[in-house]
Amino acid sequence: MGQPTTQDEYSKRYAENTKTSGTGIYGVRCHVPCPFCAAPDFMVHAILEVEDAYAKGATCKECGRSMHAIVTKSDSATRMAFVQTGGDDPPPWVPISRSAETTTGVDVARLADVPGSRAIAEKVIAAAVAGEAPRRVTISGRAPEPGTEDSGAPAGINPATGQHRDYWVLSPGERSKGFVRPVRSSYRHVGPPPPKYELRELTDDERARYAGEGYVRYEPYPESESPKRGRLWTQKDLDAVGKGCGTMTTMGRELSETYARQPSFYGSTFCCGCRTHLPVGERGEFVWEGTTERVGT
Ligand SMILES: [Zn+2]
Ligand SMILES: [Zn+2]
Repeated sequence: MGQPTTQDEYSKRYAENTKTSGTGIYGVRCHVPCPFCAAPDFMVHAILEVEDAYAKGATCKECGRSMHAIVTKSDSATRMAFVQTGGDDPPPWVPISRSAETTTGVDVARLADVPGSRAIAEKVIAAAVAGEAPRRVTISGRAPEPGTEDSGAPAGINPATGQHRDYWVLSPGERSKGFVRPVRSSYRHVGPPPPKYELRELTDDERARYAGEGYVRYEPYPESESPKRGRLWTQKDLDAVGKGCGTMTTMGRELSETYARQPSFYGSTFCCGCRTHLPVGERGEFVWEGTTERVGT
Protein backbone atom coordinates (compact mmCIF):
# COMPACT_ATOMS: atom_id res chain seq x y z
CA MET A 1 0.00 0.00 0.00
CA GLY A 2 1.33 3.44 -0.96
CA GLN A 3 0.49 6.82 0.52
CA PRO A 4 -2.99 6.69 2.03
CA THR A 5 -5.65 8.83 0.40
CA THR A 6 -8.36 8.57 3.05
CA GLN A 7 -8.46 8.44 6.83
CA ASP A 8 -9.63 4.81 6.63
CA GLU A 9 -6.59 3.86 4.58
CA TYR A 10 -4.40 5.79 6.97
CA SER A 11 -5.85 4.03 10.01
CA LYS A 12 -5.56 0.60 8.40
CA ARG A 13 -1.96 1.27 7.39
CA TYR A 14 -1.14 2.69 10.83
CA ALA A 15 -2.43 -0.46 12.54
CA GLU A 16 -0.54 -2.73 10.10
CA ASN A 17 2.72 -0.93 10.61
CA THR A 18 2.55 -0.78 14.39
CA LYS A 19 4.70 -3.73 15.39
CA THR A 20 7.20 -5.02 17.86
CA SER A 21 10.22 -7.21 17.28
CA GLY A 22 12.69 -8.97 19.54
CA THR A 23 12.06 -10.37 23.00
CA GLY A 24 12.67 -9.37 26.58
CA ILE A 25 12.34 -6.06 28.34
CA TYR A 26 15.65 -4.83 26.92
CA GLY A 27 15.39 -6.59 23.57
CA VAL A 28 11.94 -5.60 22.35
CA ARG A 29 11.83 -2.86 19.71
CA CYS A 30 8.69 -0.89 18.97
CA HIS A 31 8.14 -0.02 15.33
CA VAL A 32 6.17 3.21 15.12
CA PRO A 33 4.62 4.22 11.78
CA CYS A 34 4.83 7.71 10.35
CA PRO A 35 2.21 9.87 12.12
CA PHE A 36 1.48 11.65 8.83
CA CYS A 37 1.29 8.82 6.28
CA ALA A 38 1.57 5.67 8.41
CA ALA A 39 4.63 4.41 6.50
CA PRO A 40 6.50 1.71 8.47
CA ASP A 41 9.43 2.29 10.81
CA PHE A 42 9.18 6.05 11.24
CA MET A 43 10.79 5.31 14.60
CA VAL A 44 12.15 2.09 16.04
CA HIS A 45 12.89 2.27 19.72
CA ALA A 46 13.42 0.11 22.80
CA ILE A 47 10.38 -0.04 25.02
CA LEU A 48 12.13 1.72 27.86
CA GLU A 49 13.26 4.53 25.59
CA VAL A 50 9.89 5.79 24.42
CA GLU A 51 10.36 9.30 25.70
CA ASP A 52 13.90 9.67 24.38
CA ALA A 53 12.87 8.40 20.97
CA TYR A 54 9.86 10.69 20.70
CA ALA A 55 11.78 13.69 22.02
CA LYS A 56 14.48 13.11 19.39
CA GLY A 57 11.89 12.64 16.68
CA ALA A 58 12.34 11.40 13.13
CA THR A 59 11.76 12.09 9.45
CA CYS A 60 9.61 9.85 7.31
CA LYS A 61 11.52 8.16 4.51
CA GLU A 62 8.40 7.97 2.43
CA CYS A 63 6.66 11.34 2.80
CA GLY A 64 9.60 13.40 4.06
CA ARG A 65 7.72 14.95 6.99
CA SER A 66 9.42 15.33 10.36
CA MET A 67 8.00 15.18 13.85
CA HIS A 68 9.30 15.33 17.34
CA ALA A 69 7.68 15.50 20.74
CA ILE A 70 7.97 18.04 23.51
CA VAL A 71 8.04 15.92 26.64
CA THR A 72 6.80 17.42 29.88
CA LYS A 73 6.99 15.46 33.10
CA SER A 74 5.16 15.83 36.35
CA ASP A 75 5.13 13.50 39.35
CA SER A 76 2.10 11.67 38.08
CA ALA A 77 2.27 11.83 34.30
CA THR A 78 4.42 12.25 31.25
CA ARG A 79 2.81 14.27 28.51
CA MET A 80 4.07 14.46 24.97
CA ALA A 81 3.02 17.20 22.59
CA PHE A 82 3.79 16.25 19.00
CA VAL A 83 5.18 18.90 16.72
CA GLN A 84 5.62 18.73 12.95
CA THR A 85 9.02 20.19 12.26
CA GLY A 86 9.39 19.64 8.53
CA GLY A 87 7.79 18.57 5.26
CA ASP A 88 4.53 19.32 3.51
CA ASP A 89 1.30 20.00 5.29
CA PRO A 90 -0.39 16.67 5.94
CA PRO A 91 -3.74 15.91 4.30
CA PRO A 92 -6.69 17.32 6.25
CA TRP A 93 -7.92 13.91 7.38
CA VAL A 94 -4.68 13.05 9.21
CA PRO A 95 -5.80 12.82 12.83
CA ILE A 96 -3.58 15.60 14.09
CA SER A 97 -5.03 18.71 15.65
CA ARG A 98 -5.34 21.50 13.10
CA SER A 99 -4.76 24.22 15.68
CA ALA A 100 -1.59 26.08 14.90
CA GLU A 101 0.56 27.60 17.57
CA THR A 102 3.86 29.38 17.59
CA THR A 103 6.57 27.76 19.61
CA THR A 104 10.22 28.61 20.03
CA GLY A 105 12.26 27.47 17.09
CA VAL A 106 9.29 26.23 15.13
CA ASP A 107 7.44 28.84 13.11
CA VAL A 108 4.11 27.19 12.96
CA ALA A 109 3.75 23.86 14.61
CA ARG A 110 0.82 21.61 15.02
CA LEU A 111 0.69 20.66 18.66
CA ALA A 112 -1.34 17.60 19.34
CA ASP A 113 -1.23 14.13 20.64
CA VAL A 114 -1.13 11.81 17.69
CA PRO A 115 -4.13 9.63 18.46
CA GLY A 116 -3.15 6.07 18.96
CA SER A 117 0.61 6.27 18.86
CA ARG A 118 1.14 6.93 22.56
CA ALA A 119 -1.62 4.55 23.56
CA ILE A 120 -0.11 1.84 21.38
CA ALA A 121 3.34 2.40 22.83
CA GLU A 122 1.91 2.17 26.34
CA LYS A 123 0.07 -1.01 25.47
CA VAL A 124 3.26 -2.54 24.12
CA ILE A 125 5.10 -1.61 27.30
CA ALA A 126 2.33 -3.00 29.48
CA ALA A 127 2.31 -6.26 27.55
CA ALA A 128 6.06 -6.63 27.62
CA VAL A 129 6.21 -5.82 31.32
CA ALA A 130 3.37 -8.21 32.11
CA GLY A 131 4.97 -10.99 30.07
CA GLU A 132 8.42 -10.54 31.42
CA ALA A 133 7.59 -9.11 34.86
CA PRO A 134 11.10 -7.82 35.52
CA ARG A 135 11.53 -7.35 39.23
CA ARG A 136 14.29 -4.87 38.76
CA VAL A 137 15.06 -2.35 36.07
CA THR A 138 17.67 0.33 35.59
CA ILE A 139 16.84 3.76 36.94
CA SER A 140 17.75 5.33 33.59
CA GLY A 141 15.60 2.98 31.56
CA ARG A 142 18.66 2.04 29.50
CA ALA A 143 19.89 -1.51 29.15
CA PRO A 144 22.48 -2.53 31.76
CA GLU A 145 26.09 -2.20 30.62
CA PRO A 146 27.35 -5.51 29.18
CA GLY A 147 28.51 -7.86 31.92
CA THR A 148 26.64 -6.05 34.71
CA GLU A 149 23.33 -7.89 34.29
CA ASP A 150 23.89 -9.87 37.49
CA SER A 151 25.92 -7.25 39.35
CA GLY A 152 24.95 -5.00 42.22
CA ALA A 153 24.73 -2.07 39.82
CA PRO A 154 23.96 -1.99 36.08
CA ALA A 155 26.86 0.33 35.25
CA GLY A 156 30.39 1.10 36.36
CA ILE A 157 31.47 3.87 38.69
CA ASN A 158 31.91 7.37 37.35
CA PRO A 159 35.31 8.40 38.78
CA ALA A 160 34.26 12.05 38.82
CA THR A 161 31.44 11.43 41.31
CA GLY A 162 32.17 8.05 42.89
CA GLN A 163 28.64 7.02 41.97
CA HIS A 164 27.60 4.33 39.57
CA ARG A 165 26.50 5.65 36.22
CA ASP A 166 23.21 3.81 36.76
CA TYR A 167 21.43 1.92 39.54
CA TRP A 168 18.98 -0.93 39.81
CA VAL A 169 15.55 -0.17 41.20
CA LEU A 170 12.50 -2.36 41.65
CA SER A 171 10.28 -2.06 38.59
CA PRO A 172 7.29 0.31 38.83
CA GLY A 173 5.00 -2.75 38.79
CA GLU A 174 6.83 -4.27 41.74
CA ARG A 175 6.86 -0.99 43.67
CA SER A 176 3.14 -0.52 43.06
CA LYS A 177 2.44 -3.68 45.08
CA GLY A 178 2.80 -1.68 48.27
CA PHE A 179 5.37 -0.46 50.76
CA VAL A 180 6.44 -2.22 53.95
CA ARG A 181 8.25 0.87 55.26
CA PRO A 182 7.62 4.60 54.88
CA VAL A 183 9.02 6.16 51.70
CA ARG A 184 12.05 8.08 52.94
CA SER A 185 14.62 9.83 50.82
CA SER A 186 17.33 11.09 53.21
CA TYR A 187 19.76 9.17 55.32
CA ARG A 188 22.73 10.10 57.44
CA HIS A 189 26.12 8.44 57.62
CA VAL A 190 26.44 7.64 61.31
CA GLY A 191 28.90 4.75 61.05
CA PRO A 192 28.50 1.11 62.06
CA PRO A 193 26.35 0.35 65.13
CA PRO A 194 27.88 -0.82 68.42
CA PRO A 195 27.69 -4.50 69.42
CA LYS A 196 24.15 -5.55 70.37
CA TYR A 197 25.25 -7.99 73.06
CA GLU A 198 27.95 -7.96 75.67
CA LEU A 199 31.44 -8.69 74.36
CA ARG A 200 33.81 -11.15 75.97
CA GLU A 201 37.53 -11.82 75.64
CA LEU A 202 38.60 -14.50 73.19
CA THR A 203 39.23 -17.94 74.67
CA ASP A 204 42.72 -19.41 74.27
CA ASP A 205 41.35 -21.70 71.62
CA GLU A 206 39.78 -18.80 69.66
CA ARG A 207 42.93 -16.75 70.06
CA ALA A 208 44.95 -19.56 68.54
CA ARG A 209 42.49 -20.08 65.72
CA TYR A 210 41.98 -16.43 64.80
CA ALA A 211 45.44 -15.09 65.54
CA GLY A 212 46.64 -13.07 62.63
CA GLU A 213 43.12 -12.09 61.58
CA GLY A 214 43.04 -9.23 64.04
CA TYR A 215 40.08 -10.38 66.17
CA VAL A 216 40.14 -9.10 69.73
CA ARG A 217 36.62 -9.71 71.12
CA TYR A 218 33.70 -12.09 70.68
CA GLU A 219 30.02 -11.12 70.76
CA PRO A 220 28.01 -14.24 71.67
CA TYR A 221 24.45 -14.10 70.29
CA PRO A 222 21.44 -15.38 72.25
CA GLU A 223 19.33 -18.32 71.01
CA SER A 224 16.94 -15.87 69.29
CA GLU A 225 19.61 -15.07 66.67
CA SER A 226 20.05 -18.75 65.74
CA PRO A 227 21.43 -20.04 63.40
CA LYS A 228 23.93 -17.20 63.90
CA ARG A 229 26.13 -17.96 66.91
CA GLY A 230 28.00 -14.73 67.40
CA ARG A 231 30.41 -12.27 65.88
CA LEU A 232 34.13 -11.74 66.10
CA TRP A 233 35.26 -8.11 66.38
CA THR A 234 38.57 -6.60 65.33
CA GLN A 235 39.95 -3.50 67.04
CA LYS A 236 39.33 -1.68 63.77
CA ASP A 237 35.63 -2.69 63.88
CA LEU A 238 35.35 -1.45 67.47
CA ASP A 239 37.09 1.82 66.71
CA ALA A 240 34.80 2.47 63.74
CA VAL A 241 31.58 2.22 65.80
CA GLY A 242 29.52 5.40 65.48
CA LYS A 243 32.17 7.11 63.39
CA GLY A 244 30.30 8.08 60.24
CA CYS A 245 31.12 11.33 58.49
CA GLY A 246 27.73 12.73 59.56
CA THR A 247 26.73 13.78 56.05
CA MET A 248 23.11 13.52 54.94
CA THR A 249 22.49 12.08 51.50
CA THR A 250 19.22 12.44 49.59
CA MET A 251 18.18 10.10 46.83
CA GLY A 252 15.53 10.03 44.13
CA ARG A 253 12.02 8.67 44.36
CA GLU A 254 12.69 5.40 42.53
CA LEU A 255 15.39 4.48 45.04
CA SER A 256 13.32 5.63 48.04
CA GLU A 257 10.36 3.57 46.89
CA THR A 258 12.58 0.57 46.29
CA TYR A 259 13.78 0.72 49.91
CA ALA A 260 10.18 1.15 51.08
CA ARG A 261 9.02 -1.87 49.09
CA GLN A 262 11.98 -4.12 49.88
CA PRO A 263 14.32 -2.80 52.59
CA SER A 264 16.90 -5.51 51.88
CA PHE A 265 17.15 -4.74 48.15
CA TYR A 266 20.52 -2.98 48.38
CA GLY A 267 23.70 -4.12 50.11
CA SER A 268 25.27 -0.71 50.14
CA THR A 269 24.47 2.90 49.43
CA PHE A 270 26.28 6.06 48.44
CA CYS A 271 27.48 8.62 50.97
CA CYS A 272 27.82 12.12 49.51
CA GLY A 273 30.35 13.04 52.19
CA CYS A 274 32.64 10.03 51.72
CA ARG A 275 31.85 9.82 47.97
CA THR A 276 31.77 6.06 48.16
CA HIS A 277 29.35 3.19 48.70
CA LEU A 278 29.15 1.76 52.22
CA PRO A 279 27.11 -1.07 53.74
CA VAL A 280 23.43 -0.80 54.67
CA GLY A 281 21.41 -3.20 56.79
CA GLU A 282 21.38 -4.03 60.47
CA ARG A 283 25.13 -3.56 60.67
CA GLY A 284 25.22 -0.89 58.01
CA GLU A 285 26.50 2.64 58.42
CA PHE A 286 23.35 4.70 57.78
CA VAL A 287 20.17 5.72 59.60
CA TRP A 288 17.10 7.34 58.07
CA GLU A 289 17.25 11.06 58.75
CA GLY A 290 15.53 11.98 62.01
CA THR A 291 15.34 8.36 63.22
CA THR A 292 17.60 5.72 64.74
CA GLU A 293 16.35 3.18 62.22
CA ARG A 294 19.09 1.67 60.11
CA VAL A 295 18.73 2.03 56.35
CA GLY A 296 18.09 -1.37 54.82
CA THR A 297 16.27 -2.95 57.77
ZN1 LIG B 1 5.27 9.67 6.21
ZN1 LIG C 1 30.12 9.48 54.85
